[in-house]
Amino acid sequence: MTVMNARRLIPTATLAGAVTLGLVALSACSSSDAADQKSGDKLAVTASFYPMEFLAQQIGGDHVSVTTLTKPGVEPHDLELKPRQTAELGESDVILYLKGIQPAVDKAIDQSGVGQIVDAASLTALEKHGTEVGHVHGGDEHSADEHAAEEGTPDGNDPHIWLDPVKYAEVAQGVGAALEKADPDNADAYRKNTDALVGKLGALDTAFKQGLTDTSTKTFITTHAAFGYLAERYGLEQEAIAGIDPEAEPSPARIKELETIAKQDKVSTVFFETLASDRTAKTIAADSGLKTDVLDPLEGITDRSKGDDYIEVMQANLAALQKALGAK
Ligand SMILES: [Zn+2]
Repeated sequence: MTVMNARRLIPTATLAGAVTLGLVALSACSSSDAADQKSGDKLAVTASFYPMEFLAQQIGGDHVSVTTLTKPGVEPHDLELKPRQTAELGESDVILYLKGIQPAVDKAIDQSGVGQIVDAASLTALEKHGTEVGHVHGGDEHSADEHAAEEGTPDGNDPHIWLDPVKYAEVAQGVGAALEKADPDNADAYRKNTDALVGKLGALDTAFKQGLTDTSTKTFITTHAAFGYLAERYGLEQEAIAGIDPEAEPSPARIKELETIAKQDKVSTVFFETLASDRTAKTIAADSGLKTDVLDPLEGITDRSKGDDYIEVMQANLAALQKALGAK
């Protein structure tokens, strides 16, 4: 515990006694160490949901204490914050979030008054993938726009950047720089940790590239449209049952269209995920005689996840894609 925190807990009368007993360093630190006041001697980082939490933990290491707004097992898109969480948000030294995926969180962060706010979406280039819903075989663009609007991205961009290891590494670099700035005393450690993480993400990218080069089909069917960046990176075609928002229900026309695509593109598997409903995916699979498997959008880690962290679950995703696409 730091001297600053000790002072807060000690009533004034006792404090006077403590000073005479030799705790004379109190006044020396009272004007500095803004970061140290809030969580012992660690930098207090609030992460909006798992992909941000993983970056904060990997890069921050022992020098940060990370709080995550989205609890494990909670579907993040429509998260509403409890009043206690909103209050705690204002106590953070650094907030790390991804603007456009959690509208209620975006609003609370805007109003938090915290000086160091890092928006992951500003650290890489975003693309629009909402129109992937139905674009291939002349489907309905209108519903794609609606999904994007529900998501809360003002310009309709796809927020699922962390599922592309290359874009995620770009975000990691930006987060590393932000932590260095917020806590210059530990800049060397943040830089070293960032380099290590970027290295792991580079290896993951290589594994995806090599593992998905030669496959018997390039098309995969998922529940919600989380894998647009991943598909783009590795030359695959994502066909989503719902839109970018996992709660959106597909139209009967869209379901029929997916069944046609499955036949034309020799799709073997319909993917569902760990946190969202899998009812529609299973129905489509049963109706078309297809298999089902899990492709995890990594919006949270639970006991049901096929791995303990981002890297492990992405490796499981790669294995599932290789199997479904008929990798040689
Ligand atoms: Zn999502």
